[in-house]
Amino acid sequence: MRTPSVNSVWAEGRTMDTTALLAIQGIRKSFRKPDGGELLVLDGIDLTLKEGEIVGLLGRSGSGKSTLLRLIAGLSRPAAGSITYLGNAVTAPPPGIAMVFQSFALFPWLTVLENVQLGLEALRLPPEEIRRRAIEAIDLIGLDGFESAYPRELSGGMRQRVGFARALVVHPNILLMDEPFSALDVLTAETLRTDFLDLWSEGQLPIKGVLLVTHNIEEAALMCDRILVFGSNPGRILQEINVELPHPRARLDPAFRDLVERI
Ligand code: ADP
Ligand code: MG
Repeated sequence: MRTPSVNSVWAEGRTMDTTALLAIQGIRKSFRKPDGGELLVLDGIDLTLKEGEIVGLLGRSGSGKSTLLRLIAGLSRPAAGSITYLGNAVTAPPPGIAMVFQSFALFPWLTVLENVQLGLEALRLPPEEIRRRAIEAIDLIGLDGFESAYPRELSGGMRQRVGFARALVVHPNILLMDEPFSALDVLTAETLRTDFLDLWSEGQLPIKGVLLVTHNIEEAALMCDRILVFGSNPGRILQEINVELPHPRARLDPAFRDLVERI
């Protein structure tokens, strides 16, 4: 399923550079309630994401995790605080930040190839370049041969692979993943996680850092270098856990998996 030529340079670049891709300070966000009152959803969030890291945001449903990702993606504005991406304030959707959604968010009337090509629409590339890059992303994520299939013809796991391909096709610096495995059955989720980690640890993914939102503690322990534990009402970071790995590929080691399953 892998095309070794794709961005193998990331493998080296990733481990050497420790610049913050993303720096967030003092983020507050509230929504207006139907009764006219304010619902404070995020209350003073600080976090950084450095090159080469997978950082997890672990919290209950309703704690403000998706709200935070939307702010980082520039889809909404905070009431206070700053979001800095590669040294620049985020005020609109920045190029180089892509997202994978829990619900896949595919267009049912478009084929796999067309859905993935949509990810590149804003880049104004020549059509043959768009097609080449979309096919490259589709192959990378293991969907080789399904370019002309429609989402309804695919299993949930394959649909989410399309979601990943659509995000990866832009070669984003940061991949935001909003509970990407939650809508999948346990075994499919496990396969997708393993495939993702395999590509990541081999330096095959054209991304520099990942923020993974999840409510699954095993998933966070398995996938993340650091886990930020989110408390709700209002959302704030209560604790930061460093996941110490004996070696870079330990995540794919069955012994590490056994350990995680016993959490
Ligand atoms: P999570 O992703 O952790 O489950 P969300 O960020 O989706 O949490 O939501 C956090 C809280 O903010 C919830 O109480 C939700 O109802 C509320 N909320 C989210 N988006 C909006 C919105 N656009 N308008 C009003 N309330 C919202
Ligand atoms: Mg959410």
